[in-house]
Amino acid sequence: MRLIILGATGAGKGTQARFISRILKLKHIEMGGLLRKEARKNKLIKKFMAQGKLIPDNITIRILNKEIKNKKSFVLDGFPRTLVQAKALRFKPDLVLFLNVGKDDIVKRLLLRKRFDDTKKNIEERYHLYLKKTLPVINYYKKKNVLVTINGNPSIKNVSKSIKKVLMKFSKFDN
Ligand code: AMP
Repeated sequence: MRLIILGATGAGKGTQARFISRILKLKHIEMGGLLRKEARKNKLIKKFMAQGKLIPDNITIRILNKEIKNKKSFVLDGFPRTLVQAKALRFKPDLVLFLNVGKDDIVKRLLLRKRFDDTKKNIEERYHLYLKKTLPVINYYKKKNVLVTINGNPSIKNVSKSIKKVLMKFSKFDN
């Protein structure tokens, strides 16, 4: 099964992707994590990340393709974030989950997290890029009828419960 989880930075993608990976025994592929690893040897990537900017599509696509090569089942977290990335994917996702969280909650969560790229200015920039670049990806998958929107505002546990319900329904149809 190939699953994608989408949402703004701070929507809880990582946490819920880990939950999905555990219950469905899928490999968790985290684009942000791959890029943070890459940033240790690549100053340009580090600079983009520190500014809250998106890493150029050609770089992210190359890294992702290398990572998913020969893998048939995974939960992909944080990719695609642009339409160019979505159209460059070499596989059709079985299911795309969109974690929908309001901006106020996103800002609150990120300020608590204190990661190196979680400054107030960055948070605004990333949210702006999410609206401009990632919302079209969400609409793209909506049109393809593979998208399920999950209300990501409740507690982690309750969001996981909603996700589990969707996954159970989905696997029923799948069998
Ligand atoms: P995340 O851990 O998903 O919040 O991602 C952290 C940072 O990595 C983002 O703010 C971007 O700078 C970069 N990044 C992650 N995923 C992508 C992507 N698909 N395309 C471009 N940049 C990305």
